[in-house]
Amino acid sequence: MAVKALKGFKDVVPGDVETWQFIEGTARDIMHRFGYAEIKTPILEKTKLFKRSIGETTDIVEKEMYTFPDRNGSSLTMRPEGTASVLRAYIENGLHQAKPVQKLYTIGPMFRHERPQKGRLRQFHQISVEVLGTDLPRVDAELMGMAALIIEELGLSVSLEINSLGCPACRPAFNKALLDYISGIDDLCEDCLRRRETNPLRVLDCKNDTCQSYYKDAPSILDHLCLDCEDHFTAVTADLDRLAVDYRVNHFMVRGLDYYTRTTFELITGDLGSQSAVGAGGRYDGLVKQLDGPDVPGIGFAMGMERLALLLEQKDERITAPGLDLFIAALGGQAQDMAFELCHELRSSGLFAALDYQDRSLKNQMKQAGRAQADFTLILGEDELKNNTGLLRNMQTGDQYEVPLGGDVAEWAIRLLDRMETCE
Ligand code: ATP
Ligand code: MG
Repeated sequence: MAVKALKGFKDVVPGDVETWQFIEGTARDIMHRFGYAEIKTPILEKTKLFKRSIGETTDIVEKEMYTFPDRNGSSLTMRPEGTASVLRAYIENGLHQAKPVQKLYTIGPMFRHERPQKGRLRQFHQISVEVLGTDLPRVDAELMGMAALIIEELGLSVSLEINSLGCPACRPAFNKALLDYISGIDDLCEDCLRRRETNPLRVLDCKNDTCQSYYKDAPSILDHLCLDCEDHFTAVTADLDRLAVDYRVNHFMVRGLDYYTRTTFELITGDLGSQSAVGAGGRYDGLVKQLDGPDVPGIGFAMGMERLALLLEQKDERITAPGLDLFIAALGGQAQDMAFELCHELRSSGLFAALDYQDRSLKNQMKQAGRAQADFTLILGEDELKNNTGLLRNMQTGDQYEVPLGGDVAEWAIRLLDRMETCE
């Protein structure tokens, strides 16, 4: 039996890959406009990197990581998210010395052992963005404005929900208030009962309806912020207003990773069933130091490419590969040889050209040109060759023009390109 891909691991085949290229191209273009540089980090890291950053009692570290011993026994993990690796690289390469504020992005696969379903895979892909070296609220607003712009330029619409998770100064008081509130409830789900002991804040992220019905009256973190955190959050929302970025404050949003402080946000869609988060992120001011780097603040977010692709596929317009500039239909051995040479020359000069290698009938070759959505077809038949000409056909209008082919192949190419330009 043929070997199949692993469950939750997917190929992206031609026909679908164009959507991915569109997402990646659009995001890259916008991130460059905002001054971000790309960083590429390894997919495999030491397990302790993720344990120390994401947090031992998070779902990711407790149950989702692909962790295995290397041949020499050290514990390795396939990265489940981008931030930890980018921060490790930032510290290891001394990027803080190169520039006080670093704006970085990375695009690539992430791995989590979750139950595969629509919009949830075991290998999925993220566009992951970080700003390191500043905690100005304006940076938070700019980052969210950029995320919103990526969504807008992709032609999608999602809603932005924001919250503040406070800081080590004010969060303990909130944790206590929350714990007091939930300690009297005994029909919470098993996960929440466990979280109550290990990481109470995380209960608010539970997707169980019974649990959620209790949490809707739970204390709000926004009522427990210290003055600094409150000022920060107020400034962030004021700057979002300045940029006319729509958002909704959701004081229940806690995010699934321990490292977040202050601003957190999610990009939410109603069009993907329970996989409603298209992107998410937040500030992580103590994290670089926690990883033994300099004491610099940071903020970032990640967008899930599978979910963006699903949203685009659900729209009516399909994203397809661009059609050919020119198809060369050559009839007979001599014409086929010329076409082969000419096609290479045209491709070298930047044209998107193709030809038939099998000397099929003119009708068949014209069909191929149609299928490839060629703008033009060059017909090289025996008659044409005798007169040293080719017949250039504008596939849209059906108009045909004779093009002289004398001289060497480079000269033909130039004449042909000229003709195509004037006949468009
Ligand atoms: P969810 O609540 O859907 O599990 P998350 O909070 O675990 O999401 P993050 O860790 O914040 O997600 O990752 C950011 C984005 O990456 C998500 O908004 C989503 O678009 C995408 N993502 C996360 N996990 C998966 C997955 N298993 N398959 C596909 N995309 C994913
Ligand atoms: Mg998750």
